[in-house]
This record gives sequence, structure tokens and C-alpha cells, in this order.
Amino acid sequence: MTYQPGRHFLQIPGPTNTPLPILAAIAQPTIDHRGPEFQALGREVLAGIRAVFKTSGPVVIYPASGTGAWEAALVNTLSPGDSLLMFETGWFSTLWSKMARKIGLEPEVLPGDWRTGAAAAVIESRLAKDREHRIKAVCVVHNETSTGVTSDIPSIRRAIDSAGHPALLLVDTISSLGSIDYRHEEWGVDVTVGGSQKGLMLPPGLSFNAVSEKARAAAKFARMPRSFWDWEEMIAANANGFFPYTPASNMLQGLKVALDMMREEGLDAVFARHDRAASATRAAVVHWGFEIQCRNEAEHSSTLTAVRLPEGHSADALRAEILARSNMSLGNGLGPLADRVFRIGHLGDFHDLMVTGTISGVEMGLAARGIPHRSGGVEAALRVLKGNNEPAISAAE
Ligand SMILES: *Cc1c(COP(=O)(O)O)cnc(C)c1O
Repeated sequence: MTYQPGRHFLQIPGPTNTPLPILAAIAQPTIDHRGPEFQALGREVLAGIRAVFKTSGPVVIYPASGTGAWEAALVNTLSPGDSLLMFETGWFSTLWSKMARKIGLEPEVLPGDWRTGAAAAVIESRLAKDREHRIKAVCVVHNETSTGVTSDIPSIRRAIDSAGHPALLLVDTISSLGSIDYRHEEWGVDVTVGGSQKGLMLPPGLSFNAVSEKARAAAKFARMPRSFWDWEEMIAANANGFFPYTPASNMLQGLKVALDMMREEGLDAVFARHDRAASATRAAVVHWGFEIQCRNEAEHSSTLTAVRLPEGHSADALRAEILARSNMSLGNGLGPLADRVFRIGHLGDFHDLMVTGTISGVEMGLAARGIPHRSGGVEAALRVLKGNNEPAISAAE
């Protein structure tokens, strides 16, 4: 590869751009993970991460990608052959259900159209029919990263309660945690799955399970084989700031800085920044004349936008053009959306100038590929970023 000047724009919906203070923290000398310096770090990050999940209960931290934390959520709470209810929001919900089947569970997948979120009413009527309570858990992806659709988790909680059903609620927040408002405790979620490399601005390598009291109680009777993923040994060691096996200690140094940064900015300001980047991006996409993959206004994701290209145009060729021309990576279409959509990640360490830079890069790529579009997407985004309160100057002046 020849040198490309300027910073690479990593605008895939995770991994995201890692800020320099976090990279510097990770580059510190490795420390003794059984020593006092580590203990202070362990205590700090284990307490600090709870604020991001909005829980007062335990958050287990694994040296694994998000997929590991998916498995942990299942094996800690369930027994071989248990039935699960999963809602098909897209590629990631599908992968989670495939995992459940591979490890000996019986997922029932409620079909979705990959353009809308998990439907609470459908979940409620399915649970109401399950009079013997064979379904042990309901699994939902909060922010479906393949489609840019955010599901309403409180409505799913209400659906389970209205059906009078005891199933656990397991939620994947890998691409929303720390970017879109999420409340593990208040929303009555039993296990929340998170990852380090998206909203938390860290490189890939850490993942999380926030655990409710009900989930922890279920774990006592859950017979899925587990060792590496076992919550109880983790929670016992974590009480003193330590881990039962070697933690990813340099990543935890990075996590400490990420938590400090999020606390300093304030979670509500972080969420508002993501909302703004997302609406500016959507304004550009609509201006270009393209369709957004997410169909419902209320479900638009604040962390990514999946854009549908007109028939006959290759989204992958466009992404390749943009990478070569502008040194920017965009997300590809997954599964049935391959080559049909591209995904713009607008999450993590990201500000208004990066929003407009990203949109410029896409528009230059569209022009270079000869994909019909209305030019001026950056202007459309700017109108949103300026707050639509620019004093108007008429063309005659
Ligand atoms: C990224 C992602 C995953 C997969 O996580 P890995 O870290 O790649 O294992 C799962 N679910 C969602 C919603 C994601 O965005």
C-alpha cells in the first residue's frame, strides 16, 4: 500500500475511531494483573461501566469480542434444549439465533423485514400462546447494525409483562451502548450484551454482560455447560477488583480513559451528539434522492445509516471507490443486503466536521461512479448541524 496523506476515516459502524488518549492508555507498560495497581484499575472500571449500562448490578467484562458476550448471556441463563424467542431484525439477530441453535438451544425466530424493529405486539401474542411457559428467554437486538434500525426495548418489556410471561429479556446493545440512550435497570432487562469497539471508542477485544438479579438467580439452575463464560467466578473475583483469569489489562487501561471521557462529556450530551450526526446524515441521504433502509421514522438509528442504492448500482464498487479516493471506509451490506446497501457509521469519537467530511467523501464517490444523485448533500447536512437558524440572504442581495 502506498502512503495516503491525512487521517483515515473509519466510518464503518464499528470498530470506530479510537481517540489518541485511549490509544496512549493502551500503550502503557503491561502491569501485574494480581497486583495493587491492577486492583485499583479493576475496581474503577467495574464500578464505572455500570453508569454506561445504567445499572447498579454487576457488569461482567470478558476479554472477547461481542460474539463471546452473546454466548455468555445464553450459557449462563439457560439449559440444553430450552426454547427462546428471537426477533429477526437483520443480520446480527440472525447470527445470534444461529449461535443459539449451534450450542443446543431451540430458538424460534419471529420473521422480520430487515427494515423495521422488533414488534412488541407480535412478541406479546406469541408469549400469550405459550401457556406452559416453555419459552425461557426473549432475545432482541437493540440497534440492528445491518439495517440501522433501533428497537423500542421498553415496549418489549411491556409485551412480556402484559402476556404475564416469566421469560428473561436478553438484549444486544453492541452498536448502541454509550451512543443511544439505554437503561438496563429501569427498562427491566435481564442480560444486556455490549462490546468495546463501537460506542465505547475502544479497539475490539472487550465485551460485557450486565446482569439482573433475576438472571443471576436463573443462572443457579441453568445447566448449559460453561467455564470461561461463568458469571459467578467472575463476580466473586470482581468483588476485590480482580478477575479469575488474565484480563485484557491494557484494554482495561483504555476503558478507564473512555469512561472518564464519557463522564466528562456527559452521557446525555453524547446521545445528543449522536442524534445530531444521524439526522444530518439522513438529511444528506434524502437530498441525494436515496432510500434509507430503516422504514420507520421513530426507529432510525443514531449510530449508523444504511443507504439503499438505486437498482443496477453496486454499493461495494462505490465503497471501493471512496476508499481509494478519500481514504474512508464505509460499512458493506450484509446477507441479503450485500452490494445493495452501504452503511455510514456515525458513532463513537465523532463530531460535526467528521459528519460533513464523511458526507463529502460519499458524494465525491457517487459522482466518480456516475450514480445519479442530486448534488448538495453536504449543504443539506449543514442545515441540520447549524440548527436551521441561519439568517436567510435572498439571491437578489
Ligand atoms: C458488531 C456487532 C456484533 C458482533 O460483535 P463482534 O464484536 O464482532 O463479535 C453483534 N451484534 C451487534 C448488534 C453488532 O453491532
